[in-house]
Amino acid sequence: MAIHEKSLIRPENISSHEKKIVDGIDVSGDWSTFIHTRVVTDYNENLEEEIAALPGGEYIHRCWQCGSCTNSCTVNAENPDFNPRYWIYLIRVGMEEELLRDKDIIWQCVSCNKCTSACPRDVFPEGVMKATAHWMELKGHTPPSHSTIFDDVFTEQVIKHGKIEDGEVLKDFLLKTKQPLMQDWIVQMVKQMIKGFPVMSLMKMGWATIFHPKTKNWARASDAIKEHIAEEHAAQRKALGLDSAE
Ligand code: SF4
Ligand code: SF4
Repeated sequence: MAIHEKSLIRPENISSHEKKIVDGIDVSGDWSTFIHTRVVTDYNENLEEEIAALPGGEYIHRCWQCGSCTNSCTVNAENPDFNPRYWIYLIRVGMEEELLRDKDIIWQCVSCNKCTSACPRDVFPEGVMKATAHWMELKGHTPPSHSTIFDDVFTEQVIKHGKIEDGEVLKDFLLKTKQPLMQDWIVQMVKQMIKGFPVMSLMKMGWATIFHPKTKNWARASDAIKEHIAEEHAAQRKALGLDSAE
């Protein structure tokens, strides 16, 4: 018997025999095609809760699968395999193995938030994409993405100085992602800044990059932020069933 929509079934979940006789009856080819049934152990029943425990994933339970996020998605327009609606579906039913098949593209969300504007249920799909990428990193399925490294560098600066120095953030990001400090686009950007920025602003930026001025009385605020981040990370790791040590 031919299986309709066979292309939707993973090849490893299909068994068939070119030549098979059962009780004297020839059941070769399509007649001996079997689809392996799913069992409960195929699912991660906590997957939705794990994603919901990470920043951005909180409202995933509201999704009613209308597909407006995927229809409006910037990346989906370039790559039809990038499908937020589908991934939200997989997460909600706990199909972790299927989700992991797309682990190399989920992080490619460009945070344009078109999906967030289009979503009729306030799911915040952009946040769900971020939470899913973060979940993959925490579970060790993918290395930290450039986006995560940038967030870390940015946060480090806030904790240390209580303010952001763009040049410092860029330098730390390039070093941590093993990229050369001198790249064509950086040279062009610096040239444009020298041409277009007031001299005083440039001097202030240069001074701040070298001396790292701190926000006044920043130490206590810095400690409070560090404590809060440590608590959040511990709670997230607990929700994901990981040890609480950072
Ligand atoms: S934020 Fe991400 S998922 Fe949403 S539309 Fe933009 S690229 Fe697509
Ligand atoms: S637009 Fe919102 S409700 Fe519709 S599928 Fe996407 S996340 Fe779900």
